[in-house]
Amino acid sequence: MDHVLVILALAAFWVLFVCLSPTRECRSCGRHRGPCPRCKGTGRRFRLGARLAGKALLALRKAWEERP
Ligand SMILES: [Zn+2]
Repeated sequence: MDHVLVILALAAFWVLFVCLSPTRECRSCGRHRGPCPRCKGTGRRFRLGARLAGKALLALRKAWEERP
């Protein structure tokens, strides 16, 4: 069972990290003329799972607010 706990801890840590800084610099912009297709010209790219973590947190908050 220990590895499950480790994975859960890592997932929790990653969610926290991704929420603290959900985006990172895009390194492909320099290789493209005009708007870069990777970040759509914003220069920032979401980290792996950032949107998922955001959705999960929103769902958690909603569940928390709607609790009886
Ligand atoms: Zn870019």
